[in-house]
Order: sequence, then structure tokens, then C-alpha cells
Amino acid sequence: MQLVFATNNLNKLKEVQQLIPEHITLLSLKDIGCDVDIPETQNTIEGNAIQKANYIKTHYGYNCFADDTGLEVEALHGEPGVYSARYAGEQRDAHDNMNKLLANLENKNNRNAQFKTVVALHLNGTLETFIGICKGSIAETKYGVDGFGYDPIFKADGYTQTFAEIALDEKNRIGHRGKAIMQLVTFINEL
Ligand code: IMP
Repeated sequence: MQLVFATNNLNKLKEVQQLIPEHITLLSLKDIGCDVDIPETQNTIEGNAIQKANYIKTHYGYNCFADDTGLEVEALHGEPGVYSARYAGEQRDAHDNMNKLLANLENKNNRNAQFKTVVALHLNGTLETFIGICKGSIAETKYGVDGFGYDPIFKADGYTQTFAEIALDEKNRIGHRGKAIMQLVTFINEL
């Protein structure tokens, strides 16, 4: 079986590749000749995941899946949420985003947060969605160099290290995207 993962993010591809069994051939957007920035104009994480999967299905016809992720911070009433990528502006810079979040949490005792991923799968004419949540907290400053996005400031519950300090297979085991993708794998295996 061939499945397109609708992302240009090499970090996400690397994470997901580790979780997809060998009988599924994972194709990237590059593999199918798609180099556009797929629109993400919905106001929910689920809406954006479905919009991206629909785009590939409509324009290229492949079975495919797309993910969308948001970081929801309790003391900021769920922000940045669906706006996580451009929290500090259209430049979508990870360090600008983290700096803004750390500044907005200054003097706040409640640092609880969660990552939420929705994966939307188009398979043989049906659309399915899978949700993965990872609960944790926002560190006081950035730690670690691995991963991407908000990883240097996010500690999963029970961990003293951030996502940018732990091994990729560990992040995949406990993380939001890994949890959603494992549901997708179970769904396909049960067909
Ligand atoms: P998107 O799913 O690519 O739209 O991601 C939205 C925002 O969340 C971007 O700023 C990403 O860098 C960030 N993000 C997505 N997944 C992760 C993750 O696993 N760790 C840290 N940041 C992430």
C-alpha cells in the first residue's frame, strides 16, 4: 500500500517514518511532485488537518494523510493552539514563537500545556481522523537542540527533560503525533 504524508516538514517525516510498518510505502510531497505550501486556513486543528488531506486527495488523487498540531497552554486559555505556527508572526520562526510564549508566561505559576495532533486520513474513499494528546508543561527557558518547533520548551508529564533533549523514539512513544499515528496504523492493520 502507498500512502502520501502531506507534509514538507522533514522532522515530521522522520518521526512518522519510524512508526509506519514496512508494508506501507510512505511517499512525501516531494515524491509526488508537490512543492506548494498547502493552505491551512481553518480555525481548528482538526479543520486544518482535513483541509490538507483534502487538498492532496483532490489535486493528486492519492490515498494520503495529513497532520496538524497545536500547543495549548492552560494559563493562556488554550493559546497558541491552532495559531501555533505563526504565534509570533508570519515568519513562522520557532525561536520567535518560543520567546513570545515564554514572555507571556512570565510570572505565571500555572505552566500546564498540552500538544494536540489531529491526523486526517483519506483511504479508499473514506475520511478518518485520529487525535493524539500529550500533556506536560512549559519549561522556564529553552533546553536541548533536537526536535523542532516548541520542543525545547515542552516537558511531557513525568519527564525532567524537554522534547528537544530526549531520543526521537521516546518522543514518538509518548508524544502527540506518535499517539495519533499509532491509531492510524492500528486502523489500517484492522482493515
Ligand atoms: P503544524 O502542524 O506543522 O501546523 O504545526 C504548528 C506549529 O506547532 C508549528 O509551529 C510547529 O513547529 C509546531 N509543532 C508541530 N509539531 C510539533 C512537535 O512535535 N513539537 C514541537 N512543536 C511542534
